[in-house]
Amino acid sequence: MSTDPDCLFCKIVAGDIPADIVHSDDRTIAFRDINPQAPVHVLVVPRAHVVDAGTVVPGDAEDLAAMVMAAKTVADAEGIGGEDRGYRLAFNVGPDSGNSVAHLHLHLLGGRSFVWPPG
Ligand code: AMP
Ligand code: ZN
Repeated sequence: MSTDPDCLFCKIVAGDIPADIVHSDDRTIAFRDINPQAPVHVLVVPRAHVVDAGTVVPGDAEDLAAMVMAAKTVADAEGIGGEDRGYRLAFNVGPDSGNSVAHLHLHLLGGRSFVWPPG
């Protein structure tokens, strides 16, 4: 499994930097965003270092599937899953998106309504 010793989220995966971890499995961890944009704002990341959704390769497919499954598990645990609620999953890629951390992360946002199109 590839890791980057200089990567913030690799350090969180390794336990070298603290985070409020809400889910962990063999391929992913999920932790609360330090600057939440919604009542529920969790980042799901692969344990392996992957830069972003714009650089994924076929070999990352199982990690990507595990990330979506982890997001569903967290959403259900947070009470925002199911037919009468809802949430947003987002990958930011590149400067125009505002991406700031170069380790793949899936934003899980919920607990309020969101507008579409996004800002
Ligand atoms: P992005 O803008 O898509 O790259 O998202 C990066 C996210 O990481 C932002 O929402 C930040 O608030 C969040 N973040 C940065 N540092 C930490 C940290 N140490 N723990 C939790 N979330 C963080
Ligand atoms: Zn990393």
